[in-house]
Amino acid sequence: MSVTQPTTENLKFNFKNKTAIVTGGAQGIGFQITLSFLQSGGSVSIWDYSADALENAKKELSSFSNQVHFAQVDVTQKESCEAAAASLPWPVDILVNNAGITRDKSFGKMSFEDWNAVINTNLTGLFNTTKILSEKFNATSKSKRIVNISSVVGLYGNFGQTNYAAAKAGVIGMTKTLAKELGRKGFTVNAIAPGFISTAMTEKMPKEALDQMAAKVPVARLGSTEDIANAVLFLSSEQASYINGTVLSVDGGVVI
Ligand code: NDP
Repeated sequence: MSVTQPTTENLKFNFKNKTAIVTGGAQGIGFQITLSFLQSGGSVSIWDYSADALENAKKELSSFSNQVHFAQVDVTQKESCEAAAASLPWPVDILVNNAGITRDKSFGKMSFEDWNAVINTNLTGLFNTTKILSEKFNATSKSKRIVNISSVVGLYGNFGQTNYAAAKAGVIGMTKTLAKELGRKGFTVNAIAPGFISTAMTEKMPKEALDQMAAKVPVARLGSTEDIANAVLFLSSEQASYINGTVLSVDGGVVI
């Protein structure tokens, strides 16, 4: 049997006829994940809270209008997720739980509201979407995928982020448990732990502060949203079918 040479085409991920839901998909890392799926032939339903971000995303993604669906959703609210799930134009193949917020304060100053807001969005939000959408997956698919966005902070903790670290560590526990429970039903469930990622938020920070952050990373730069999207597409692909319950750090080696 002869071995065929790889072509550029078959080295790329192919999500033709695949549909993804990306929570928090209208801006930041989630927007890049959405764009990468669309550019790889997939269809995406963006579930985002922010009306402004959804409006901007609609404009920016106008050339993909046949492949993209928009829903204004608050993942902390069960009813909001149920309404969005009912509006889906397609069965689901891939769920990317990406929506997240921070309310950073040292433990002494952290209010009950700061705690609840972060746990509700970053952890209970994942329970809501996953619980409601697990029934909406393409029943015939043998490659159902759930990718949860955690953080290096969930693995190692971080000063001023008791709420966020607890939620992101919870995401890892949930990922591993769902990987065990749902594996036999054709799902893989994995998490990604991003390190310092350059987003609109970091662009507003002084260059000196950014240089200091980059200096802590062995590869000497902040991560890009594309770095995270590439990892999400890999874990969502057919090629990753034997990867289940893992936490993939995408952090330039910052915590080694
Ligand atoms: P952004 O704030 O840029 O984007 C997150 C999106 O999620 C926003 O549109 C936001 O809307 C939306 N969102 C917030 N709350 C809800 C909700 N209740 N329901 C639905 N949508 C909601 O975040 P990033 O792109 O920076 O982060 C994306 C993910 O990556 C998060 O889970 C974050 O914790 C994680 N992460 C990010 C890192 C980074 O360096 N940026 C590092 C490690 C992990 P709104 O603007 O209205 O709040």
